[in-house]
Amino acid sequence: MRGQSKWRDGRPVAWLFAVTIVLPSLALAVLAYRALDSDRQVAEQVWRERLQDETRRAFSQLERRVLETRRRADALARGEELDRRTPDGMIALILGPELKLAPVSAFAWTPDGRLPVTAALPAELEQAESQELRQASPRQAIPMYASLLRRAPAPWRGWIHLRLARVFAQAGEAAESRAALQRASSLPDSPDLAPSRFAARFELAAASPEEAALLYRDLNAGTWLLEKSPYAYYEMRLLEWAGGRIPPEILAGEQRRQVMSRLLERVLHGESGWLTEGSVSALATTSSHTRGAAILTPDTQWELWLAETAREAPRDLFIRAGAAPPRDSRRAPALSLSSLGLPWWVWSEPRDPGAPGRENQSRRRLLLAALLVVAGVLAFGSFATVRLVRRELRIAQLQSDFTATVSHEFRSPLTGIRQLGEMLLAGRAANDEPRRRQYYELICRESDRLTRLVENVLDFVRMEDGRRQYRFERIETGEWLRELAGIAAQRRTVDADLPPELPPVEGDKDALSSAVLNLLDNAIKYSPDGAPVSLQASGEGGWVTIGVRDQGRGIAPEEQRRIFDRFYRGPEAGGGPAPGVGLGLALVKRIADAHGARIRVESAPGKGSTFYLSLKAAV
Ligand code: ADP
Repeated sequence: MRGQSKWRDGRPVAWLFAVTIVLPSLALAVLAYRALDSDRQVAEQVWRERLQDETRRAFSQLERRVLETRRRADALARGEELDRRTPDGMIALILGPELKLAPVSAFAWTPDGRLPVTAALPAELEQAESQELRQASPRQAIPMYASLLRRAPAPWRGWIHLRLARVFAQAGEAAESRAALQRASSLPDSPDLAPSRFAARFELAAASPEEAALLYRDLNAGTWLLEKSPYAYYEMRLLEWAGGRIPPEILAGEQRRQVMSRLLERVLHGESGWLTEGSVSALATTSSHTRGAAILTPDTQWELWLAETAREAPRDLFIRAGAAPPRDSRRAPALSLSSLGLPWWVWSEPRDPGAPGRENQSRRRLLLAALLVVAGVLAFGSFATVRLVRRELRIAQLQSDFTATVSHEFRSPLTGIRQLGEMLLAGRAANDEPRRRQYYELICRESDRLTRLVENVLDFVRMEDGRRQYRFERIETGEWLRELAGIAAQRRTVDADLPPELPPVEGDKDALSSAVLNLLDNAIKYSPDGAPVSLQASGEGGWVTIGVRDQGRGIAPEEQRRIFDRFYRGPEAGGGPAPGVGLGLALVKRIADAHGARIRVESAPGKGSTFYLSLKAAV
């Protein structure tokens, strides 16, 4: 009798589920993914802009340095003072008619002919010198120079000592010559004259490697500025004499000074911009405002400035510079410094390369977690909904079966009663008293069955509508159960095992009777004729437990969960001889619930069943 409604096979439910839950969920997931993706792009863009900003800042700082250098060169060219205008590390040159360098120590030499012209030899010294050359014996020149020493102006004294040393040496008086050299080496140089101290110490160095090394060091410290050719000679000699006594850092410093001097020469030849000699480079900034001026900014200085710029960068960023831009320029946009005359690129990088992705990652995780939660809730919700719908569908199915069953169940006792009545009316058993009695009994039993059926249905309807009223009263358990056993005994022998001291219970006697009778009715219905049915009761711990046992077909475990559902009938119940409409146990359950009682079943297929109804004992 099952209707073939489309709703019953569950396909439309699946469709409904797909349309209302799966599709929106998928759409939600796609939207979330796209939102994440655009979020990632925005985060990347933000990082790129940060890096770009930082690179631009570094660039403009270096640009400011270049502009400053140009301004300084212009100021120098206008004639402003040299020393005040030259910060550490930068080398300024005034390229006027006479070359001025600041600081002098940066250069090893100055090009030939670029030192200021030295003052002319005093006439007396000139005379003394020509006499020295004319005289055959150098000894005669000694008193001449000695008397000149007393009269000569101070700047010349060093030079006179040097000449004395020469004539002493020629006369073979080495000690005297040495003493004269030492005196000359202790006198200060005169700014207008060639350096006599240097000349004296150079002479002394010829005889002492230590002195040669010391002189080399002083030369390196920029004590004297020599012209290119003499420098080449002296430097070579000193190296030779010192014989490996010069520390390597002094040698390296001297190399660098020589390179700077060569760069200076190139600037004098009109070169500018980034000039390189060996491993040393410098930016030559020239100006020819009124007189030529140039500033050489060596690479070491640029490195310092770069480091300074890098120090100002935010903590999580690096500033880098290199001869070529980084390979991944999308992640680290680089700027060329060529417009500033510098052959590098600058760019900034995150200190932690994973940082740009990380913020997005945590957001992604959060969103994923939220998505998972939503998916979980949806899955659970759909599962619960599907279950509920299935259940409702099943009940609807049972309900429709119920109508058919009820009409059938009503018809058979009615037919029986009518036939028996007709037979009695026709006087078929007129003379057979026992037979007549049997007919009357049958009529009574069938109408009882009908009454119980009608009561069950009515009770159930009342309960469903919430109209069932319970009248609670005190019930003497033993007496009451014996009464019920008596009723059931009309159909089957009932073993009543009821101890005398059972505690009373409280409840609606009609309802509880109906519950126990339903259990007894089932026990009889679902066990073969003649099989014993028993009614037991026990009182324990404030509860009275009533047990109805049969030795019938039993109930399979999976069925046991469903037998208390309304309209449920066991697979064999419908087709078999056992009449019923699937309401008995549903009624029992509802009555038990209304009394705060518990109902349970112990059963195994083929071994019979025992239903236990536990009621609270009355106080
Ligand atoms: P009905 O008896 O009208 O079918 P019930 O609600 O009383 O409805 O019982 C529901 C189902 O439980 C029955 O159809 C039957 O399959 C099963 N059942 C109930 N009591 C017993 C029993 N004592 N032994 C075996 N099966 C039973």
